[in-house]
Amino acid sequence: MTTERAGIPAKYKWDLSAIYRDEAAFSAEFSETEKLIAEYPKHESTMLGSPQALAAALADHFAIDRKLAKLYEYAARNFDVDTSVNSWQAQVAKVINLNSRFTAASYFVSPYILKLDATTLEEWYREYPELEKYRRIIEVELRRKPYMLSDECEKLLAGMSQGLDTHDGIYSILTDCDMQFGKIRDEEGKLVELTDSSYVKFLMSKNRRVRRAAFTKLYRVYGQFGNTIATILNGFIKEKATLTKLRGYENSLFASTFADEVTPEIYNNLIDTVNRNLEVLFDYYDLKREVLGVSKLHMYDVYAPLIADYDRDYSYEEARDEVLEATKIFGEEYYETLRAGLLERGWVDVYPNKGKRGGAYSGGSYDTEPYILLNFNGKFDDVLTLAHEVGHSMHSYFSHKSNEFHLSNYTIFVAEVASTVNELVLAAKKLRESENDLEKLSVLNHIMETFKGTLFRQTMFAEFERDIYALVEANEPLTREVLCEKYYALVKKYFGPRVVVDKQISMEWMRIPHFYYNFYVYKYATCISAASSVMKKINERGDEYINKYIDFLKCGNSKSPLESLMVAEIDMTKPVVIEDAVSVFAETVRQFREIAGRLGMIKVSEKN
Ligand SMILES: [Zn+2]
Repeated sequence: MTTERAGIPAKYKWDLSAIYRDEAAFSAEFSETEKLIAEYPKHESTMLGSPQALAAALADHFAIDRKLAKLYEYAARNFDVDTSVNSWQAQVAKVINLNSRFTAASYFVSPYILKLDATTLEEWYREYPELEKYRRIIEVELRRKPYMLSDECEKLLAGMSQGLDTHDGIYSILTDCDMQFGKIRDEEGKLVELTDSSYVKFLMSKNRRVRRAAFTKLYRVYGQFGNTIATILNGFIKEKATLTKLRGYENSLFASTFADEVTPEIYNNLIDTVNRNLEVLFDYYDLKREVLGVSKLHMYDVYAPLIADYDRDYSYEEARDEVLEATKIFGEEYYETLRAGLLERGWVDVYPNKGKRGGAYSGGSYDTEPYILLNFNGKFDDVLTLAHEVGHSMHSYFSHKSNEFHLSNYTIFVAEVASTVNELVLAAKKLRESENDLEKLSVLNHIMETFKGTLFRQTMFAEFERDIYALVEANEPLTREVLCEKYYALVKKYFGPRVVVDKQISMEWMRIPHFYYNFYVYKYATCISAASSVMKKINERGDEYINKYIDFLKCGNSKSPLESLMVAEIDMTKPVVIEDAVSVFAETVRQFREIAGRLGMIKVSEKN
């Protein structure tokens, strides 16, 4: 039974009244923003006339954006804690709609900036130094200039945009709605529905028969749709590749990394370095086989749990204090701000309640607190989740505080660094302090699973993505056979010579929605690597390095993501950053093996 929200004490709910006193104040700001948006088109005829006019157009633009962000925060946070209240759903829709109206009213800003040339701009910066504060924003826009088409072509593409970009929609309708996987027998022998999400649960079953049944059945069904899914993926990639070629980008990988302000070099460095270090991943699978006590580890065994649940329960207060204690290393401002946020300023909405959105996130805007939504359930995972979200919140706090609004949002390329650092800091503290071996194993297991899933698996996906785009760009058709063959070879490489790579796994690409994200997943792997590197430097250098790390958190969008990371001395072009993550994983596997061995949990130990 889920609790009614009204029954939860106020101290466990976030305080949204700090954003707007009441709904009337929200409505008043909404109307004011509407008015500003209606006036915005006046800049169209003036913005390129003088540096003053350009600065004014940008200042008004960001002032409206800032209000929209705050309005959205209020509506969306209210909606997320009780999605059954239609009025909040309507308010969220209203803000989204207002945002679209602003996009339409300000459509000219970006193309007009692209009309400016570097010489004029340099003169303007000299003539009107106020404009200087928008330099980075203007430069980021101007990077796209060489890849813009004629006005006519841009108009045509914009007009066609609804008809383009449909493949991922077709894919998810097919796999989420139309495909049926039938039933399998669960642990008790009961017939139960197999779905794409219950599949994941079944693969984590302690019962091998259940795991194998789910695996076999799921791929039998995917197999029937393989040609269709290959055609959809081929179409998706072909469309992206054609558009990037038309714009004059070298290739799709270049275009995607360019949009993140990084380079294919970073992408390839990740893949190459992980490839050179796969032996530690093979060790992990050996450990899994030994603990599971099976003579051969199959594809349907790799998600089986290494340990029984360690069920120490945490109260929210204990979790909060653990996280606060762990983050003391980040210095006084970090600690005091976080303490106030968690204890006095109403940052967190702690418990699940009827109608509350699932999962966890950190939100907030420039003019609000960095709100955290949890569905706290008292397990160690929940403590880690709090540490993770608090990492996002404190990154936002420093970014917001150190920059004007238009430069205050850090980019997606660095978004998971601070959150992952916090998970690692908390895990390290638990490992240091715990005197219970089972608790230690549970912490180590958590780190291993995170690195296996984030560093290795996402890199394997990134490698697959890179290679299939390259095939399309070389005019090779992506058929089901080609895709299966490529994928199978990769799985064989990443799982190593001692795992049985069952034939069915060649179809796994069919069930990965991330291949429709267009070179996105590598960022998970680069972030966990950067975070590992930060941890290593914290351990080695202490406070002197912590200051640099905090300076990185303050960068916001005032620098490119690569330059921001350099503030923390993280050079993403170098293998060492990825190697730091590999060594965290290797050390974790080593410690797990040591404790598990001591506890007699290793059932077979010869490498066969
Ligand atoms: Zn996160």
